[in-house]
Amino acid sequence: LNERFLTEQDYEAITLDGEHISLQLNAGLDLNTEHSKSNMCDGVGLYRTEAWFMQKGQFPSQIEQENWYREVLTSYHPAAVVMRTLDIGGDKVLDYFNISEDNPFLGWRGIRVSLDHPELFLDQLKAMLKANIGLGNLKIMLPMISGTEEVDEALALLEQAYYELAENHPEQILERPEVGVMLEVPSSIFMLEEWSQKVDFCSVGSNDLTQYMLAVDRANARVAELFNPYHPSVLRVLQKVATECHTHELPFSLCGELGGDPEGAILLIAMGYRRLSMNYSSLNKIKWVLRRLKVADMEQLLDACLAQPTAKHVLRLTRNFMIEHN
Ligand code: PEP
Ligand code: MG
Repeated sequence: LNERFLTEQDYEAITLDGEHISLQLNAGLDLNTEHSKSNMCDGVGLYRTEAWFMQKGQFPSQIEQENWYREVLTSYHPAAVVMRTLDIGGDKVLDYFNISEDNPFLGWRGIRVSLDHPELFLDQLKAMLKANIGLGNLKIMLPMISGTEEVDEALALLEQAYYELAENHPEQILERPEVGVMLEVPSSIFMLEEWSQKVDFCSVGSNDLTQYMLAVDRANARVAELFNPYHPSVLRVLQKVATECHTHELPFSLCGELGGDPEGAILLIAMGYRRLSMNYSSLNKIKWVLRRLKVADMEQLLDACLAQPTAKHVLRLTRNFMIEHN
């Protein structure tokens, strides 16, 4: 971490013209290291549960999961933890669960696996609900949602998990956590009006959204140069998310790598994003940048960027802006 950013941990993320931005943590890899940074942010905006599953030799039992989730929720309590249900497939494989496909990023991934294996999904949901008893800081997020039937089926299974637990343990006071969807498949961006009636929040996964918008495998070095979230089409879609979510009063955030990139963060804030979730190594850097800029200037930059023909043009503008504004 660059030394000049170190003192930033003592400050809030407020722009020069007084706009408060909520910065949250992307977590799931290493509880101790990540938790030590939690005083620098407003809770966890993305907890990748699959990272823990990937360290195991077999599917962890419901009770093992419950204990783990409770440890995570307790560490950050009372701040909220957005736990994402299992997001395997694509580049994320479990040694003990074979998924072998020609096009893994277009195949059996995320919610698709969970809905095809309701016994695994119900175990995970029940473990989360039980871990949340007495804490109340759990939020649940569904990955790779592409259609309404997936939202409906996932919510129905959550209801089932809730009722089965409540029936078997009437003495326990179960809370209903807020539920959100990830926006990372382009189709999801066009369903926000309907989904705003069904879920409590959404969060953009800009890594996958970029991959699917541009048809560029995010893990393929040969086409790495084409993977660019500053492509004007991606920026326009991100802008559309902000506009639609405002219209339909659906709370929204972004948890892909773009939010931890200073140029990305300022464009997103100009679009209306007020919640960004990022790796802990980005937190101080983003605070440092935000505390030296006005939203009004970011908005001017965004207007210019949205009119550019290519990502290269956009990045030229954003870099010049950063230099001009120190
Ligand atoms: C994303 O796709 O942007 C995201 C946050 O999820 P992951 O990187 O885990 O796929
Ligand atoms: Mg993703």
